[in-house]
Amino acid sequence: MRWDNLSAPPEAGVPGGAAPAAPPLPLALPDATVRTFDTPEFAGMTFYEVRAKSIVNRVPGTSRVPFEWTVNPYRGCGHRCTYCFARNTHTYLDLDAGQDFDSKVVVKVNAGELLRRELAAPKWRGGHIAMGTNVDCYQRAEGRYRLMPEIIAALRDFANPFSILTKGTLLLRDLPLLRTAAEVTSVGIAYSIGFVDESLWRSVEAGTPGPRRRLAAVRTLTEAGFRVNVLMAPILPGLTDTDDAIEATVSAIAAAGAASITPIPLHLRPGAREWYARWLARGFPHLVPLYRELYRAGSYLPQAYQRELVARVRLAARRHGLHRFEPEAAPEPPPPARPEQLTLL
Ligand code: SF4
Repeated sequence: MRWDNLSAPPEAGVPGGAAPAAPPLPLALPDATVRTFDTPEFAGMTFYEVRAKSIVNRVPGTSRVPFEWTVNPYRGCGHRCTYCFARNTHTYLDLDAGQDFDSKVVVKVNAGELLRRELAAPKWRGGHIAMGTNVDCYQRAEGRYRLMPEIIAALRDFANPFSILTKGTLLLRDLPLLRTAAEVTSVGIAYSIGFVDESLWRSVEAGTPGPRRRLAAVRTLTEAGFRVNVLMAPILPGLTDTDDAIEATVSAIAAAGAASITPIPLHLRPGAREWYARWLARGFPHLVPLYRELYRAGSYLPQAYQRELVARVRLAARRHGLHRFEPEAAPEPPPPARPEQLTLL
C-alpha cells in the first residue's frame, strides 16, 4: 500500500455510488445460515452462523505472545476499529479486509458446546486459553448471540485458566459468572484503551463503547476484586502520542484503578494498513507524509520511536502510582490464523 494517491472509495447508496446488493454467501462458508437483524444496533450487519469443527486453536510456535491457546467465537468485528490488525484474516473467508470485516461477522454458534467437549478430551492438558486476541469476543453481536456465558461456564467447570482482552463493556453482563470462575481458576481481564479523546474515538473506533465507558468497566471490575490490565493500545503517531495525550490517558487509567498498563504503539499490517491509510488521508491529510516516513520499512514503527514512546508512558505511569508497569516490551499480537484453521462445517 502506498501512502500517496489516496482517495475515499465510492459510497453505496449515494448518487454515483454503487447500488446496495444482497450479500452473496462467501465461498468459504457454503453452509452458513445468513441472518440480519431489523434493529438500529445491527443496521447494515450480516451474520454468518456456522457450526465450527474445532474451537481451541494453537498459536503458531513462531509467535512471541505469552499464551499458547486461543478461543475465538467470532470472525470479523462490528467494533470497526480502523487500525484493527485482524482485518486481513477476513480475506481467508473470501471477504474483504475493509467494509466486510466491519459488517459481515461469522458466528460460531456451537462454540460453547464444542469447548466443553474439547476441554473434556483426554489429550487436553489444561493450558491457559486467551480470548479476544484475534477479534473482540464482547463485540455487539455477543449481546444477541450470548456465546461467552457458555464458554466461561465451560472453563469454570473444568477449572481451566483463561484471560479475556476486550473493548466491550458487555463483559460486565457476565461478571457474576466471571467471579465464580475466579474462585476455581486464574481469570485474567484486560481492557484496551488507547486514548481518551472522544472525537477521535468516534472517528477511528466508531463501533466500540467509548473510552469513558471502558474506564468505568475497569473501575467496576477492580471493585469486584479483579486486577485489570489496560493495554494502552494502539498509540497513534501524530494523534495520541503527545505528552498531553499520554498524560490524559494514563491518569484516567490510573484513576479507574487499573493494576497495570501496557503501551502498544500502532502497527499496521496489510489489510489494516490500507484501511487506516484511507481514513488518515480523509481526516488528517497533513499526517500522511509522517506515516509514509514512519512505516516505510513495514508494519512496525522504528525501534527508537517505540522505545521513546514506551519510556514516556512509563514515566507517566510512575507519576500516577502505576508502579506495576508491564511488560518492558509491548507484546506482539498473534499472527493471523492460517486458512486451515478456518475450516467450518
Ligand atoms: S475491537 Fe479489537 S477486534 Fe474489534 S475491530 Fe477493534 S481492534 Fe479489531
